Amino acid sequence: MSRAFPSSLPLSRHRIDRDHDTRSDPAALDRLWSSADTRVLVLNRGLALASTGSAPSGWDGFGDRPPSIRTELALLRPDEVAGDVSDETAVRLYLGVLLDAHDDPTGPPVFAISVPDARADALVAERPGASWVNLRLVATDLDDSAAGVFTEALAMMNWHAVSSHCPRCGATTTVESGGWVRRCTVEGVELFPRTDAAVIVGIVDAEERLLLGSNALWEKNRYSLLAGFVEPGESLEAAAIREVGEESGVVIADPQYVGSQPWPFPASLMVGFMARVAEDGASGERPDGDEIIDLRWFSREEIVDPDNGFLLPGPSSIARAIIERWYGGPLVPRTTPSAVALPADAAADDRPVEPGPGQG
Ligand SMILES: [Zn+2]
Repeated sequence: MSRAFPSSLPLSRHRIDRDHDTRSDPAALDRLWSSADTRVLVLNRGLALASTGSAPSGWDGFGDRPPSIRTELALLRPDEVAGDVSDETAVRLYLGVLLDAHDDPTGPPVFAISVPDARADALVAERPGASWVNLRLVATDLDDSAAGVFTEALAMMNWHAVSSHCPRCGATTTVESGGWVRRCTVEGVELFPRTDAAVIVGIVDAEERLLLGSNALWEKNRYSLLAGFVEPGESLEAAAIREVGEESGVVIADPQYVGSQPWPFPASLMVGFMARVAEDGASGERPDGDEIIDLRWFSREEIVDPDNGFLLPGPSSIARAIIERWYGGPLVPRTTPSAVALPADAAADDRPVEPGPGQG
């Protein structure tokens, strides 16, 4: 049974009821935390504790994933991490209740916590086979439940990591509502988690070829879809048309939404579109020379050619999913080069990674 495109995206998959009502009930949260059924996902520096598996050594997450031990996230009992949330500044984040086979929320309640480095080392040392894993590298290795839990926890912990102080007045903030609200200790205002919307566009020309660009931060033979952040006061469609125009000079018409997936590196929501070149807009692509240094139109034959020498986005990205959607099926796995040194900010398939210069 094939799944609808939006729900098949690796980081859009989930098997959890976020249980909004319980967030505002501190007594209920305490009861869940004392339950032997409850499970806790542990994060450290954006990585999750896994009981087995790890990303293949030497793989940077681009291209296809080499075979390796299957990753299973470690979901601990609350009593195993009780000491890690005793500090009043620690975030005990309530993720919700896992769904059963009938989509009913009868599974274990799940929390997430973040631990400092020394504790992270100890947690791994105590557990043979355990390791810290990167969501981007292991996403397609995880089942729907684990992928959803890790994505939700990472996105929220990334927000907490930059929200210790109020953006309005600079005072400290405290955590409420199971980790879903922070409150300014001076003004009393509630501060909510934020998501940065970004558009990513599959552009097709009259010959059914797909436009891919090579980013200045990548190796020369790596190509992906054009993408960029939505600006304040702008619709998703307008952002798609503007970003494509800025990066490629290509004019697109009528971008059509195809699906979205969270991309918590650190806080993006990638909104995917397909678009055709406008009738009078095919006058030749020109890379902006800043973010995009090369642009190419790929036919389906060229994309699948094992000797084409091009690297495609990694399997956890919506870029890869949109390319395969256009192609009409999974692309043949190809060998990727061994470890490639990349700037940390470039180590993601779906631009944008972070707001910054050149991301306009
Ligand atoms: Zn304030």
